Amino acid sequence: MRPEKLIHLADAAVAARRMAYAPYSGFAVGAAVATADGQLFTGCNVENASYGGCLCAERVAAAAAVAAGHRRWQALAIALPGGGTPCGICRQFLSEFAEDLLILAIDTDRPTAPPHRYQLQQLYPHGFSGRDLQAGPPKPPTP
Ligand SMILES: [Zn+2]
Repeated sequence: MRPEKLIHLADAAVAARRMAYAPYSGFAVGAAVATADGQLFTGCNVENASYGGCLCAERVAAAAAVAAGHRRWQALAIALPGGGTPCGICRQFLSEFAEDLLILAIDTDRPTAPPHRYQLQQLYPHGFSGRDLQAGPPKPPTP
């Protein structure tokens, strides 16, 4: 992606963070996915009193892209305090659609600092995929 497009993607993630529903953790996160054809889809974390029902911003943005018919992506930006990387379940979720996804991590505590750049393959090198399902059922454990 061209640098100006990456800046636009990062800005979209920062803007999406303002919509976060995080009454329990107070940890607001925004995300934006850039599709192969350059469209942007955003998401924010959505918490729930039943903690298992919480959704991360990355998966909300990714699901929005898929729901609009976009399954090929160029990059994802996330905006959060400290500029962390996607959690394990989000890495798995993202790898379903883009194993080589560029990830920009924006530290909202340092808004003028350049985002950290990662490739999803670097963060999640041996993810489970549809290829693993071709191996057939697992063998029973031996005593
Ligand atoms: Zn996550």
